[in-house]
Amino acid sequence: MEQYIKQIQENIAALEAELKSLLDTLGRKREEISLVAVSKTHPVEYIEAAIRCGIGNFGENKVQEALRKVPMIREPYEGFHFIGHLQTNKINQLLSLKPKLIHSIGSLYLAERLNRACGNRNLIQDVLVQVNVSGEEQKSGVSFSNALDSIIKIASYPNLRVKGLMTIGRLHPDREHNRPYYKELKALFDQINAMQLEGLSLLHLSMGMSGDWQPAIQEGSNMIRIGSSIFGERDYGDIR
Ligand SMILES: *Cc1c(COP(=O)(O)O)cnc(C)c1O
Repeated sequence: MEQYIKQIQENIAALEAELKSLLDTLGRKREEISLVAVSKTHPVEYIEAAIRCGIGNFGENKVQEALRKVPMIREPYEGFHFIGHLQTNKINQLLSLKPKLIHSIGSLYLAERLNRACGNRNLIQDVLVQVNVSGEEQKSGVSFSNALDSIIKIASYPNLRVKGLMTIGRLHPDREHNRPYYKELKALFDQINAMQLEGLSLLHLSMGMSGDWQPAIQEGSNMIRIGSSIFGERDYGDIR
């Protein structure tokens, strides 16, 4: 067997084992957690190998790269997730790939443009609202202080269905670093669901990556986006 297949298989098994044992301590079930395998920079063969190991959902963060890879996947999978910054001039190309979920709706402007594009195609797109919880300036996402208003506004667009919230933690050697932000987003998630607003029931809370999915899950994440712990380190210098 090719070495990369074996490695991906082992990585997924190790991740699943650790996830299961963490969930056991929390009294939560594996079915409550969605695992999105982040395949950016990695070849289609890696995605196919992961699918054969039971991965149903994978994520890409660049439209151009997704356009090249997604149509080439020859294994049946559940869904392609778009998790990266979305430029408005790439919306139509992204929609042509029929993303199951777009995690990165981080501004009213983007939401408005995406809504219009979905209207033109007569489709309703499932999205998450990306919230910039930490307030880091270089991060995209609606600001945490206006998040409630932004989410309600985005949910009012007829061709978007807000299915949850997403945040990107900071890459940090201390995996505890993002825990307070994850806690804050979970509180907002619960607050919105408690309001029982018409057409706004949040299902997914997308937070946690390879470096910090454990605290994210402890704080209530139910969707983790895992790249390097499944596929290995990324090589951005390589031509994919
Ligand atoms: C790359 C990426 C991930 C996965 O990162 P890893 O640290 O490799 O697990 C998760 N979410 C987003 C938005 C990403 O761009």
